[in-house]
Amino acid sequence: MSTYQSTTNPGIKVRVANPLISLIVPVFNEEQSLAMFMDAVVNKLAGLRLEIIFIDDGSTDNTLVFLRQISATNNYVQVIKLSRNFGKEAALTAGINLCNGDVAIPVDVDLQDPLEIIHDFISKWQDGFDVVHGIRNDRQNDGFLKRYSASKYYQIFNFISDLKMTPHAGDFRLLDRKAINALRELPERVRFMKGLFTWIGFSTAEVHYRRLKRTQGKSKFNFKQLFRFGLDGVISFSSMPIRVWSVVGMMMTIPAIVFMFYIIIKTLLMGVDVPGYASIVSIVLFIGGIQFLTLGFIGEYVGRIFTEVKGRPIYIIEETISAPAKTDD
Ligand code: UDP
Ligand code: MG
Repeated sequence: MSTYQSTTNPGIKVRVANPLISLIVPVFNEEQSLAMFMDAVVNKLAGLRLEIIFIDDGSTDNTLVFLRQISATNNYVQVIKLSRNFGKEAALTAGINLCNGDVAIPVDVDLQDPLEIIHDFISKWQDGFDVVHGIRNDRQNDGFLKRYSASKYYQIFNFISDLKMTPHAGDFRLLDRKAINALRELPERVRFMKGLFTWIGFSTAEVHYRRLKRTQGKSKFNFKQLFRFGLDGVISFSSMPIRVWSVVGMMMTIPAIVFMFYIIIKTLLMGVDVPGYASIVSIVLFIGGIQFLTLGFIGEYVGRIFTEVKGRPIYIIEETISAPAKTDD
């Protein structure tokens, strides 16, 4: 029986006492959330050695103006401006590729995932775990549709995929340098980060927390985007949707052959029997439907193969805005 990847034995590891922590923060039109986020960093993460990498994912509001100010006044803040909106997964990939920390923590700017949990992540890391998943064990603040579809999604995903994802783990998690390096090795263009975070393995722990409501700005994902995102995940980590049709085909072909012999023999013995229009139409429609469905699934895979073989970069950096030269640390 396969189970979710949960806490594994970390073994004995030597950890630096005061690690550099890279917060990876993708932002897309978040001018309203930035000030609150920086306040929370100052209030809740005091004493930690931080590097914050904001990835401006093609914002069209004043996000970049604010980010420039923040970076100018905080020497631990770096801003990567992407040339357009590449999506959160691409933005996270940029952050992972560019961070310098001993550990990296992707975090949303809207503070739905409370920053104080990072202290728990670090203490698990000090215990020797290389990946610490943040698990949202209370999603009351997420809305019924999102909550319901999310929990069903994890069930379906884990049923059809070889990779077992821990339900309700978001992108908010801690990754050791080893995990960061492993993620940098992964070449795929279609990036379902949650899956990749689990796929890389390493000793893993969980920290449970309550996901809060978004107080500033609004969610950047609608149901259609989430649906596509979910499909990306399943298709990136399972070939079952495309393979299952050979079984269905076999199950349909064998009875069809038996039925064919039955019809031939019956016709030879008893002559032609005209009625049967309704049954023929329903069989034709049923088989036609299955064929289109199959073609659709093949199309989903071929589309993604096309994206992969084109080999375009996952994101394009337009500008890097660094903190002013460091005077201390
Ligand atoms: N985000 C991004 N690019 C996008 C969409 C979202 O960088 O195309 C960022 C967004 O600014 C936020 C994080 O991803 O920091 C999570 O977005 P959101 O809060 O809208 O997602 P939700 O919490 O509703 O799943
Ligand atoms: Mg959010």
